[in-house]
Amino acid sequence: MDFSYSDEQRMLKDMVDRVVADQYDFESRNAIVNSEAGFSADVWNQFAELGLLAVPFSEAAGGFDGGGAELMVVAEGFGRGLVVEPYLSSVVLAGTFIDAIAADERAAELIEPIVSGQTRYTLACYEAAGRYDPYWVETTAQATDGGFTLNGTKAVVLNGDSADQLIVIARTAGETDSPDGLSAFVVDANADGVTRRGYPTIDGHRAADITLVDVTVSAEALLGEPGQAASALEYAIDRGIVALCSEAAGAMEVACDLTLQYLKDRKQFGVPIGSFQALQHRMVDMRMALEKVRSLTLWAACSLESPEAERRQRLSAAKAMVGKAGRKVAEEAIQLFGGMGMMEESAISHYAKRIVMIDHYLGDREYHMAKLRDMTLAGRDAA
Ligand SMILES: Cc1cc2nc3c(=O)[nH]c(=O)nc-3n(C[C@H](O)[C@H](O)[C@H](O)COP(=O)(O)OP(=O)(O)OC[C@H]3O[C@@H](n4cnc5c(N)ncnc54)[C@H](O)[C@@H]3O)c2cc1C
Repeated sequence: MDFSYSDEQRMLKDMVDRVVADQYDFESRNAIVNSEAGFSADVWNQFAELGLLAVPFSEAAGGFDGGGAELMVVAEGFGRGLVVEPYLSSVVLAGTFIDAIAADERAAELIEPIVSGQTRYTLACYEAAGRYDPYWVETTAQATDGGFTLNGTKAVVLNGDSADQLIVIARTAGETDSPDGLSAFVVDANADGVTRRGYPTIDGHRAADITLVDVTVSAEALLGEPGQAASALEYAIDRGIVALCSEAAGAMEVACDLTLQYLKDRKQFGVPIGSFQALQHRMVDMRMALEKVRSLTLWAACSLESPEAERRQRLSAAKAMVGKAGRKVAEEAIQLFGGMGMMEESAISHYAKRIVMIDHYLGDREYHMAKLRDMTLAGRDAA
């Protein structure tokens, strides 16, 4: 199999690397993270101008029809720069969800402002009691004469504090943990009855807990058929998993490079500490973990179009293993840097925090290992 990039993919990579290098040095990134909004509108607009916000959307919806490889190229570059702009929440999760569930014309109408950078969406799907299970939905949508009334609370909605529009997953039928009966609604983030409690996450990103009390929406707010949102939700989360794994690969690459440089620079007993074989072995283990993550990410990205059972197994395996390998690299980097690795002023501490947090988005290692176990047992019982 040919793993090298096509000309288009290489151009995309060069473009992402260039904008991250130009706009996202460590100082600029710190200023963006510590700003009130928690992201840069200028950088976001630049992403839009370069076409990066169009990458994963179908051509029918005004996108570039990018597949897993293109998503991987963009997210890996963002991982190298620790980019905090709401790409995962608005473009990958909310955007590809809309693309998957809405009829062509409606999808194009909603996605066009995402691609232009004018409107930022987020996908409000998870709830506290459901942990990482996207099908655990207690939020209800009650049909009324002119539309629906929504009630419920969504937890850790990525960029939920600054998004303009929410895609809210609510139950119109079915048991609390059932994929059947889930519906999706476009809700103005500032609508009456919507309360947002925003907060920074430990990796410099932002999220919000969102409560909906008697929020009324019109019938046009419903995306797709009532009760049929589950497969689009899977579609979007699968793309989110590929983006997160890719971002981990980019961040781990830089974490390895920074650590190697530190081992060469830091002197103890008159020699660089990297001359000690015990530390060389640990550095090699970090590189091995990085290579494993690169391979798994490529495998996951190439599996997006595979048959459902195969895709689900591969994505869960990749997410679980990336979580484990990422934690190893983050912890080893902190150990090898000694106390310096703990400092806010030291870039490695921010890479470590992002890498560790990636394990906690869209299902952590334990969640995906349990899913893998269940899928394996179900496959064995069926055989
Ligand atoms: C806020 C804060 C909280 C901390 N909390 C804890 C804590 O709870 N528990 C804890 O254990 N530590 C903690 N540390 C880390 C600890 O204080 C030291 O930073 C750490 O033990 C590294 O020691 P050092 O200063 O000698 O590092 P450096 O001399 O800078 O050494 C860097 C790395 O190289 C290794 N090294 C140096 N020389 C050699 C050599 N000759 N041979 C082999 N390896 C070598 C060191 O072990 C270290 O991994 C904390 C640090 C900070 C800043």
